Amino acid sequence: MSETADIVVVGGGCIGAAIALHLAERKAGKIILLEKKQLANGASGKGIGIIRTHYTHPILAELSHRSQQVFHNFKERFGGYDSGFNPCGYYVLVSESDVETLKTVVNMHQDMNIKVSLVDLAEVQARVPQLNLSDVAAVAYEPNSGYGNPPQTTLAFARRAADLGVEIRTETPVLEVKLDAAARVQSVVTPAGEIMTRSLVDCVGPWAKKFVEHLGLEFPVTPIVEHVVVVKRPIEFAQPHPVISDLVNLCYSRSDGNQPFTRIGNSDPKYHPQFRLEDADDFHKQYYPNIAEDLYQKLTHRFPSLKDAEIAEKYSGIWGITPDYQPIIDKLDAVPGFYCAVGFSGHGYKLSPVIGDLMSQFILGETNDFVDKLRLFRLNRFQENDLVKPPVTYGKAKGLR
Ligand SMILES: Cc1cc2nc3c(=O)[nH]c(=O)nc-3n(C[C@H](O)[C@H](O)[C@H](O)COP(=O)(O)OP(=O)(O)OC[C@H]3O[C@@H](n4cnc5c(N)ncnc54)[C@H](O)[C@@H]3O)c2cc1C
Repeated sequence: MSETADIVVVGGGCIGAAIALHLAERKAGKIILLEKKQLANGASGKGIGIIRTHYTHPILAELSHRSQQVFHNFKERFGGYDSGFNPCGYYVLVSESDVETLKTVVNMHQDMNIKVSLVDLAEVQARVPQLNLSDVAAVAYEPNSGYGNPPQTTLAFARRAADLGVEIRTETPVLEVKLDAAARVQSVVTPAGEIMTRSLVDCVGPWAKKFVEHLGLEFPVTPIVEHVVVVKRPIEFAQPHPVISDLVNLCYSRSDGNQPFTRIGNSDPKYHPQFRLEDADDFHKQYYPNIAEDLYQKLTHRFPSLKDAEIAEKYSGIWGITPDYQPIIDKLDAVPGFYCAVGFSGHGYKLSPVIGDLMSQFILGETNDFVDKLRLFRLNRFQENDLVKPPVTYGKAKGLR
């Protein structure tokens, strides 16, 4: 006889693990999470983990604010498991052309009770003397932001979910989703057998396009490779520094806890066409030429005292991007029982706690003002040409802010 489940969650990244956990907290029945390799095999295994509220769209700011509050109380909230969150503070640096946008965003966030302020350049320099601010015109500071550890957070969600009864099966790819005659979800097929279910939650991240192809569905999620350079800070600069979001040079950097390392990643969308993959399975930790040099130049421009610093590591990870760099969160009318939360486009980690919470309510049919905000991320927006558009935008840092 076939096995059955009330809900099958596919994909063991931070999003799938968070959703499975929140479903279990809401006592949604028998929940099975299926991961094709190991937990945090995809984007969640390589993310830099920045947790900030700085978004130009008020709904994204609200979601990230709520998530940030969860990160601050993660252990108490989730049975003692640790997300690795370090609230070391977060600075946004902009050039002259983006000053008005920064001020508008800061005002909007203050009206939403988000803790953020503009800080004058002399004050920033006094707080972080290693920063070169020569091309910076304005700075905002979020004292409650910082960074977490995405693989650790994924494991924390999964462990807590398992404590609450979720069955987590790694090395178990979903090969096929079977539908009944009315096109409703009927089962998932894995190498270990078929699991009958009426509810499936697709959390396969960068694999989103491929996963639904056999159902005749089109998800506009493009897998791209994203790169990180890790630099060892010299002894004179051993103290950790806050997170720096550099919207002048389109990169972001953070230090590692008590280790003398700084990580820098790219936030320049101009690179994305070169880094795209046809299939997320084509990702083999490849590292595109010149990007490390470019990131290193940007880092040493911002922190001149890192000029002779040793590069300790270079690595890459994979993201799934959508045309507006925002996720697809929906239930599909065409395939009843099919829910999705994919395409988080380089900023899904920070949102994972709130997405777990809202998505679990959405799947269980609960409605309230907050759950209704997920409508912004519906799949049909691409067909309707109604992409997510913030009220203001930065000159170069499109979409990701
Ligand atoms: C270099 C880098 C830096 C980043 N920096 C940040 C940051 O600073 N802040 C931030 O918020 N976000 C950041 N991100 C983005 C963030 O990591 C992602 O948005 C987030 O991890 C997405 O999680 P996910 O669970 O949706 O996807 P993933 O973590 O990719 O998980 C999808 C999972 O689905 C599994 N899967 C796929 N197909 C199947 C199948 N058929 N059956 C079973 N399982 C399947 C995969 O193996 C994978 O484990 C960064 C990402 C990278 C790569």
